[in-house]
Amino acid sequence: MEDILLNSASAVTAVAGLPEPDVQILTSGGLRIAAHSRILAMVSPVLENIIEKPVKHRSSERLIPILGVPCDAVSAFIEYLYNSTCKADQMEKYGLHLLVLSHVYMVPQLKQRCTRGVSERLTAENVVDVLQLARLCDAPDLYLKCMKQVAARFKTVEQTEGWKFMQDHDPWLELEILKFINEDELRKKRTRRHRKEQNMYLQLSDGIECLEHICREGCTTVGPYDVEPKKPIPCDKYSTCHGVQMLIKHFALCKRRANGFGCSRCKQMWQLLRLHSSVCDHPDSCRVPLCRQFKFKSQQQKLSDDAKWKMLVKKVSSAKAMSSLSLPKRKREEALRGTTGSTAQASKTFRLF
Ligand SMILES: [Zn+2]
Ligand SMILES: [Zn+2]
Ligand SMILES: [Zn+2]
Repeated sequence: MEDILLNSASAVTAVAGLPEPDVQILTSGGLRIAAHSRILAMVSPVLENIIEKPVKHRSSERLIPILGVPCDAVSAFIEYLYNSTCKADQMEKYGLHLLVLSHVYMVPQLKQRCTRGVSERLTAENVVDVLQLARLCDAPDLYLKCMKQVAARFKTVEQTEGWKFMQDHDPWLELEILKFINEDELRKKRTRRHRKEQNMYLQLSDGIECLEHICREGCTTVGPYDVEPKKPIPCDKYSTCHGVQMLIKHFALCKRRANGFGCSRCKQMWQLLRLHSSVCDHPDSCRVPLCRQFKFKSQQQKLSDDAKWKMLVKKVSSAKAMSSLSLPKRKREEALRGTTGSTAQASKTFRLF
């Protein structure tokens, strides 16, 4: 057997004037590490308990066995107890052992450090082993990170030895992982759907904004009948604005609508006009056709307005509010006039060029 005295231990002895080491840590390889019971007890409550237990033979030096991990990992552990640092190469080689030691001997700072260190070194090869260890050592952050990694690289992970071993020995964990992957996919799907919906509400809100601006000052090819067309300069939301302009042109010229038949594009325009009216907060001075009429109608049938429509209005309003936070407000209209009175007149409000 070989006795070693930790460099850090002797350094601390020299600096702080500590007494000679009074305990020996016994490691798996038979290696002994000399240390100071006061230091160990100060950092680890578990070691404190061991140290404070009464000894049978007072004469001999205390011997504390830390077995089951490589002796160099134990050295790194004791070193950490002395100087609270862990070198990158120690973390690289013994991160998992240090995680276990920090858990068993209750050294939370080291556990945190290991959780970070180990999670930075996750690979498809080791992720299942780390996952199991994270569960045993009650390290939820690391556990979650491993789960996410397994989910993200499942095709590769399920080919590894670690996965196959776990499948044979811990079917519950396999079930837990598969459940997580399933939920993760559902979560992602929900997020995608939510994003898609938000996008749609934002588009509708942009559509309303463009409709308002077309009705107020005109844009490229469509404008109010009583406003002189300016030079056709596209606005900053031109891709949406152009779509609204096409819709207005269609609405004005649609033969099916003129004949009293529904047409999907006309319905779209109709919906945009109604939606505008639902979010418009100045119907008396508004230049968008049918704004007041829709407002009046919806006030009359307040109770019969269906929940779906209300929800749509709410979502579009909030999308509008969100987008207005990031965009400069358009100038309010100057000359205000009443809008036309009947649905047929709606299309006549516009000048098409
Ligand atoms: Zn425009
Ligand atoms: Zn039509
Ligand atoms: Zn309005």
